[in-house]
Amino acid sequence: MMHRNQVKLLKEMMQADQFEIADRFANLPRACRLPVAAESREMIWADMIWIPPIKDKFVVLLAHSDTIWNDALVDLFFHDGRLLTNSLLTGTGADCRAGCAALWALRSTGHAILLTTGEESGCVGVSQMKSQYPEIIAAMSKAIALVEFDRRGKSEVVSYSHCTEDDLRIDMANDLGFTAGYGSFTDVVELESLTEVQGVNLAVGFYNEHTNEETLVVDDWWHTVSLVKKWLRNRVPKLEQYCWRKATLISSGKSYFDCWGDDDVDFMSNDLDQPVEQFESACPDCGELVEYYLDTAGDDLRYCTVCGWTNKDDEDDEDDDWLQSSNLFDKDIDADNQDWFGIDDESNGNCSKGGNCG
Ligand SMILES: [Zn+2]
Ligand SMILES: [Zn+2]
Repeated sequence: MMHRNQVKLLKEMMQADQFEIADRFANLPRACRLPVAAESREMIWADMIWIPPIKDKFVVLLAHSDTIWNDALVDLFFHDGRLLTNSLLTGTGADCRAGCAALWALRSTGHAILLTTGEESGCVGVSQMKSQYPEIIAAMSKAIALVEFDRRGKSEVVSYSHCTEDDLRIDMANDLGFTAGYGSFTDVVELESLTEVQGVNLAVGFYNEHTNEETLVVDDWWHTVSLVKKWLRNRVPKLEQYCWRKATLISSGKSYFDCWGDDDVDFMSNDLDQPVEQFESACPDCGELVEYYLDTAGDDLRYCTVCGWTNKDDEDDEDDDWLQSSNLFDKDIDADNQDWFGIDDESNGNCSKGGNCG
């Protein structure tokens, strides 16, 4: 269902330049500016913005503020549920102002926010974080998951380096009713290796990115944003702190290209960064061998190498319909709809780089 405020927010994000977007996020409570060093005189980047979480169990929500159009002024119009431009020279910048708008809509959830820049130029911003902002990386390492909004289309969740059956990508696809796929490269890939926390990239309704026919389908954007808000509110609090960390360790050092055609058995048992204890018994589902692991948090994770059964599935069964009973959630979202879009937060003043931002 179209909402006037959704279109207004998206237009504002798409017509701003990356500096204005950074300022908008920097004015939120507890926001920290993370200046990015220019790699050449031609390229000047807006600050990245980090907003630490309020919640103990938190997800890092991220998107990039730069576009491939280098802040060219975009003449937008709204037609048939889409935001479009007549320009022959530039696209709309929906990649990834759609993601910026998603972060804005989710800014009051208590989860961490990272607005990045330089993604279109080789993930320049996040690449500098290891040396420039180790305290932010340390804070992000405590996250349950990294969730980026920078994927074309609708209802898709992609990851980049995980091939186990019980990874974040599959779980989120099940939770949100999305399809699970693989992507090539974006900010979250770099951040996964820096934090060892699993990440995914979600479709946010843009199409034909990097062309002058770049469009944004507002309903497709809203579909992802509203479902993620429910997921953050209802699903994340029930998750175990390190539920998806093990798969990161399993797959680290392998790109997704390595995983195609790989036998899961080999994949599960080789190339582990850290030794994990391993046990064996019969699978309660298919009767075949089950491998037991202890993950880094000391919880046991059991995985059948034949049928894909995990003990985690059993625990999750009772939660399977958490999204279906959605009347309740819809009411919640409608009730605070106004708060999503305006600047309703009081600024407590911002800290500069470093300090106690983490
Ligand atoms: Zn992008
Ligand atoms: Zn792009």
